[in-house]
This record gives sequence, C-alpha cells and structure tokens, in this order.
Amino acid sequence: MQSTTFTQGADAQGQFGQFGGRFVAETLMPLILDLEQAFNTAMAEPDFLAQLDRFNAEFIGRPSPLYFAERLTEQYGGAKIYFKREELNHTGAHKINNCIGQVLLAKRMGKTRIIAETGAGMHGVATATVAARFGLPCVVYMGATDIDRQRDNVARMRLMGAEIIPVTSGRGTLKDAMNEALRDWVTNVDDTFYMIGTVAGPHPYPTMVRDFQAIIGRETRQQMLALEGRLPDSLVACIGGGSNAMGQFYPFLDDPDVQIIGVEAAGHGLDSGEHAASLKGGQPGVLHGNRTYLLQDGDGQITDAHSISAGLDYPGIGPEHAWLHEQGRVEYVAVTDQEALAAFHNCCRMEGIIPALETAHALAEVAKRAPTLPADHLMVVCLSGRGDKDMPTVLRMMEESA
Ligand SMILES: *Cc1c(COP(=O)(O)O)cnc(C)c1O
Repeated sequence: MQSTTFTQGADAQGQFGQFGGRFVAETLMPLILDLEQAFNTAMAEPDFLAQLDRFNAEFIGRPSPLYFAERLTEQYGGAKIYFKREELNHTGAHKINNCIGQVLLAKRMGKTRIIAETGAGMHGVATATVAARFGLPCVVYMGATDIDRQRDNVARMRLMGAEIIPVTSGRGTLKDAMNEALRDWVTNVDDTFYMIGTVAGPHPYPTMVRDFQAIIGRETRQQMLALEGRLPDSLVACIGGGSNAMGQFYPFLDDPDVQIIGVEAAGHGLDSGEHAASLKGGQPGVLHGNRTYLLQDGDGQITDAHSISAGLDYPGIGPEHAWLHEQGRVEYVAVTDQEALAAFHNCCRMEGIIPALETAHALAEVAKRAPTLPADHLMVVCLSGRGDKDMPTVLRMMEESA
C-alpha cells in the first residue's frame, strides 16, 4: 500500500509497516500497554505540555539556536550550512529532551524508581540528571567495556547519585546493557520506570522518544522560516539508534521538497565487517522488543557493532527509520571512522565548536555534499552533542598518527 503521509506513525500493534511492534515477555505486556495509555493521555493534556515546556526552557535551555556556520560554508563553497545546536543543551547533547519527557511521565504514573541503559554514557548522564532533579533513585546498566572507556561520564552519574551496574555479558557494550535493563524491568514492573535512550525498544518507546525529540525539528522549522523565510532544502543527522535524527526529521517528513539524509557509522568500512551501519550492512530481525534492521551473521546471531564513537556503537536502528528507508523517504548513508575524525578536526578549527564524534559523522557527510550544491541550498545539520566526552579517544588517535 502506498502511504500518503510519512507522519502517520505506528499502527495499533505499534508497527511501522513490517517494523517495530512489541516483542516482549508476557509479564511486560500489561505494563507496556499501561505506558502507552499514560503517554497518550499526558500528551493530550495542556498541564503536562505546559510542564514540559517549562523544563525545556528553564532546565534544558531551549530553544537551541539555529546557527549559520559561515566559515564552514565558505570553505566548502556550496550549500549554506546551518547547525541546529543541541550540543548547547544541559548535559551536552539531545538526550535530555527525551529524559525530561520520560521523567515527567514516570512521576505522573507514580513510579518510584528509574532504570536506564547507556553506551557512551550520555543517556546515562541525562537520566541521572533528571532522576536527581525529581528525587528518584536511579540505576544505570552499563557495559563493563564502556565503563572503562567513558570514565568521566561514569563519575558524573555517580555525582548525581545514580548506581552504575557493570554488565559483563556479551562484549560488555550497549546491546548487553539494554538486555540487562529489560531483565530488571521484568522483575520490578510495579515500581520501576525504564527510560530508553533512543527510538528503539518495544512500542510505545520508538514513538514516545521521537515525540519528545521532535522539538528539534519543530524549532528548526520556525527558526529557518524566521531567518530565511522558507524551509530548508536538506537535513543531515547521525544515527546510532536514531533519536536525534528522528527528532530533526519528523516534522519535515511530509514536506516532499526537503531532502533528508541519515548517517550511520561505517567504522573501518562497510566491507571490513567492523561497522555499525544496520541499514547499509544488516538484515531485518528482532532485538530488544522490536523488528528492525540488525547486524547479523549467517545464522541470524546479532554481531558486534564497531564505531569510533561509542554512541553509534549499536547493532540496530529504530524501526521507524527502517520503514522510512523502505519507503524511500529518507536516504541513508554511512561514514567511516577516518572520515568522521577528519570532519571533527575541521569543525573545531573552522567553527570553534568541538562536536561529539557521533555528530562528526553527520559533518563528514556535509563535507561530501555541500561543495556540490548551489549557494542557495539551505542545509541543516543536527549538532547532536559536544565532544568533551571524546577527548581521550581523540587524543589517543592524535598520538597514534603523530
Ligand atoms: C547518543 C548520541 C547519539 C546517538 O543516538 P541517537 O539515538 O541516534 O541520536 C548521537 N550523538 C550524540 C552526541 C549522542 O550522545
């Protein structure tokens, strides 16, 4: 069936075409239905939306600016490049947009304990932050490998009172942490709210996280209309699970003249087998409660993802992206570690902004496209986060190449 709109969202089963759904243990089913209902009710209530607006403005610091990247534009000599500056948000990335929404929902539902999974630690930090703000105990599951590579974020979470539980199963990264968090949730369904950090997991998470992140795209729309008097010609965002991208893209999906590009991590290259490009290099399967594109071996076993940026190091992608890919509405590409690193350094030098390594993947795609486009082409890149957390990785790479 041809869809007439790309913003129609999930059907009653939580599916986007053949993707999404709710593949969960029976004990979780009532809870997930309960959450869906609580979310739908809250989002229709002016009081809840007013509360959300207030925290967005006064706690996160929204709206984030839409900034003309003048030197980068001059350097590439093509498209006019704008940054949507989510890296200026409290805690340094877009993750907090979703966490504020979910914690307000948890309070409304009378939940007294927050759990989360984290990879690079940005979602863990944002979760620990809102849990502290609302006085709720918080447990964060984090792969043992990630705990080693992201010490600063572990310290931040502990300062705000979160308990970090190291996960040693599998390779000790994000996928394993999410498995453990789901296990915790199954055993503590009554009092616990599970905050998922991206547009993955069982329905309603992909929809809920998208709707809390869609403020990125709504602001971009208004800001671009105010600055240029028209909509942008293209949008570019990096994709781990896909939440900053869904937030940036969603309000533009039904504007056919807006070209939309999602950037996955190609790691050492798509042919190397060491990458995190679930759409470009995976097949459909089921993981963490939903059906989507996943990195798998010949037997359907989930394989490990690789990316220089821990935040893109996930073997899946949000189911709505899988659907948008199949529909051909969004173009998905992949960028290597080396390309991302070059774009990272260039952004530091040209714009005086140290981007996250995740974000640098989007910037690398801009470097490929912008020079080929006319000067009146308006391009918006989602600056998903700042690079402070990536200093150890970047310094190590600089020493190795020195
Ligand atoms: C977590 C993270 C990402 C990847 O997550 P998405 O859900 O794909 O947005 C990208 N950029 C930054 C800065 C992050 O912290």
